[in-house]
Order: sequence, then C-alpha cells, then structure tokens
Amino acid sequence: MMDLKFDQTHIWHPYTSLTKPLPVYPVSRAYENKIVLEDGRYLIDGMSSWWAAIHGYNHPELNQAIHSQTEKMSHVMFGGLTHQPAIDLCKKLVELTPAGLDKVFLADSGSISVEVAIKMAVQYWHSEGKPQKSKLLTVRNGYHGDTFAAMSVCDPVNGMHNLFNKVLQKHHFVESPAAGFKQSFTPEAMVEMESRLARYHNEIAAIIIEPIVQGAGGMRFYHPQYLTELKRLCERYDVLLIADEIATGFGRTGKLFACEWANISPDILCLGKALTGGYMTLAATLTTEKVANGICKGQAGVFMHGPTFMGNPLACAVANAAISLLFKNDWALQVKQIENWLNEWLQPLADYPQVDEVRVLGAIGVVELKNPVDMQKIQAHFVDCGVWIRPFGRLVYLMPPYISQRADIKRLAKAIKSWLECPNDKTEG
Ligand SMILES: *Cc1c(COP(=O)(O)O)cnc(C)c1O
Repeated sequence: MMDLKFDQTHIWHPYTSLTKPLPVYPVSRAYENKIVLEDGRYLIDGMSSWWAAIHGYNHPELNQAIHSQTEKMSHVMFGGLTHQPAIDLCKKLVELTPAGLDKVFLADSGSISVEVAIKMAVQYWHSEGKPQKSKLLTVRNGYHGDTFAAMSVCDPVNGMHNLFNKVLQKHHFVESPAAGFKQSFTPEAMVEMESRLARYHNEIAAIIIEPIVQGAGGMRFYHPQYLTELKRLCERYDVLLIADEIATGFGRTGKLFACEWANISPDILCLGKALTGGYMTLAATLTTEKVANGICKGQAGVFMHGPTFMGNPLACAVANAAISLLFKNDWALQVKQIENWLNEWLQPLADYPQVDEVRVLGAIGVVELKNPVDMQKIQAHFVDCGVWIRPFGRLVYLMPPYISQRADIKRLAKAIKSWLECPNDKTEG
C-alpha cells in the first residue's frame, strides 16, 4: 500500500495545505479513459488530467513513440544541437496553427510559454525603439499560469494578487467579455477595452487573452466577435495580441484552435497541455516573422531565453505521435459527439435549484452552481460513483478525453446529477 501518511505530511499537491491536507486517492495505473485506484476500483475520467490526456492513458502508439525515442536518446541540450523530433514537431505546429505563426520556441510548461510570450512582446518593442511599451493589457477572470509574469495577468482576485502585491508587475485589466458564446454581441462590449487602449497604447506591449474559453479563471465561454474586434483594436493601436491556447488548443472547443472561431491570427500563440497527449510536460510559443525579426535586430540580437530541457526529444516524439493520433482518430467527430452527449445529459441539470447555469462548448461541459462546493464531500461522492471529476469553487465541469464513449459521458453526468439530488448536499458559503 502507498504511504499516504508520508504523502500528507511531506508532499505538496496543487493548491493545497500541508497542515490541513484534503485526502488524495492513490492511483496504481490508468488506461484508456480509466484511472485505476490502488484498491482496484476504477474511475471514468472526466478531466483528461487537466485538459491534457485527450487520447486517454497508456495509449499503445504514444507509448511506442517514447520507447523508440529512448533507444535513440532521451535528451540532448538544444543549444548548438538539434534533432528530428523537434524539427518534425515544429513543422507540424507551423502548418496547423493560424496563418503567419511560423517561428517556434519550445518551452517546458504552459506557464513558461506565457513567460516567453511576454518576453517576446517586450523585447520586440524594445527593438522597435519603444521600450516604454512594456505593460500588458488583459481581461478579468483570465488564467495564464502560476509563475510571476503569468500570475500578473491572471484574474487579480482568483489569482490572489494582494498576496504577492510587492512582487507582481502591475498591468491593465478590463472587464471580461460579457456576451456568452451563444448570446448576442453588441459593440458596447468593446468600449472599455478601446478607451483603455486609446489612453495607454503607448505603454502597452501586448494584450494577452485566452481565446473563446476562459478556463481556470471561471470556465466562461465568450462571443467570437469579441475576439475579432479585439484583433482589430490591436492593429489600430499597434499592440501585439497574445493568444493563450494552452487549454483550448488541439480541438477542445470544436475548432483545432479556438482563434479559428473568430478567424484571426494572433501575433503570439501559446500551446501546452494536450500537446503531448498528456504524457509529458511540453509547451510552445509561436510567433510571426515580423515579431521574430524585430526581436533579432534589436540590442540583444537574440531572444533571451533557453531552458535546460528545451526541445526535449522524448516530449517532442510523443507530441508528434499525439498530433498524428488527432487526425487518425478524427478529433472533430470525437469532439462533436461528446458535445452532443454533454448537451443531452448536462443541460437537464439546469432545472435543479442549486444550479446557476449549464453550458457546453465542444468537449467542455460546465455546471455552474450557486454556491461553492464542499470539495472533500463532492470528491468522495464522485469516487463512490466511479468517476473522476474535480470541481473548483462553484464550478463542476467535464472535459473528458476525446476517446470517451456515450456511456462514459452519461455516467459522468449521472454522477453530477446524483450529487444535486443528494439530500445532504451541503454547500459552503
Ligand atoms: C494550464 C494553463 C496555463 C499554465 O500551464 P502549466 O503547464 O500549468 O504551467 C496557462 N494558461 C492556460 C490558459 C492554462 O489553462
């Protein structure tokens, strides 16, 4: 048996206390969309391990990609050396992402790809002789990662900016996009953004935003027209647009990249999470020739970043296999089916009195409650139901692996339904 006592007293888990740790469930293995606990129970996965494991666990083709690569080399430094897995991957990324994004920086995690994007924007304006353009502009309810620069553009409340007040750079925030994905869009939605740009564009390097879906900052889906207008404003006020597609990339919203809903190309694009099919940590920051040339003609002459494990061959090899699988499996059909099933099984939950709203987009289903959940109780309930769903705050949401079948989605939705029907559904707050 795993030493859970040691785990509880010595190991940090994400966003947890070491003095009042919540229970963690020991996992012995995982396959397809199933997570097997040490006691032999298996859970149907509703989370894709935070948007990443889109093809499910222990996939023979992804395993094979790693095995074959280990026999060549697991890693070599990327300074002064290169290799086939990185070249193949960057070719694919250039080809698949929106037009114009053809220079690739391989980073080691989503947060780092955001750091890199911010650095690119700042270095670009420095080279252009406008070093005063060094602030960022973003919307509330965003999430861009946990490192300092990324955190500085996360929602100031959810992101606990007061805690790191003295360390965080101060950036510009405007209200998050008001109109939902399917609501009607009105031009007033851009008024605050435009007036902020009009007044401060001389000090703003870039706007950073998650296209269409604001993920960990509230699971909100907004209107594609917002993004179209935003791109237009960036051009008018000479500000770069950074699209953070770390969560939305690789099909999750029903388009390969969420920018496609608005038919726009950002100046800088961040990818991560599903990039390796959830096998390893790897991220990428893509940019245009204009930005890349700008950076390289500047004072430094180079882009100032280079992590130790940059372009890790194992991660690149498994990313190549994961991207191939997307097309082999017909991701668009998989996501469309899941969207239909989520609509079928989640929409009826909107009638429960505890539920504020149900929304579905692509392979993302959100049941927003009126009050925050009791994490420990709801987690235990879901495990008892044989599913893995990890809510936060008032949000109970599903983003299952693309290989999920109708019966799996039904089972996940039923587990949420039974929680809503549970007489001792004690919500805090
Ligand atoms: C998860 C996430 C990040 C951070 O990625 P990590 O790999 O956790 O560092 C950044 N932006 C968005 C939109 C994310 O969903």
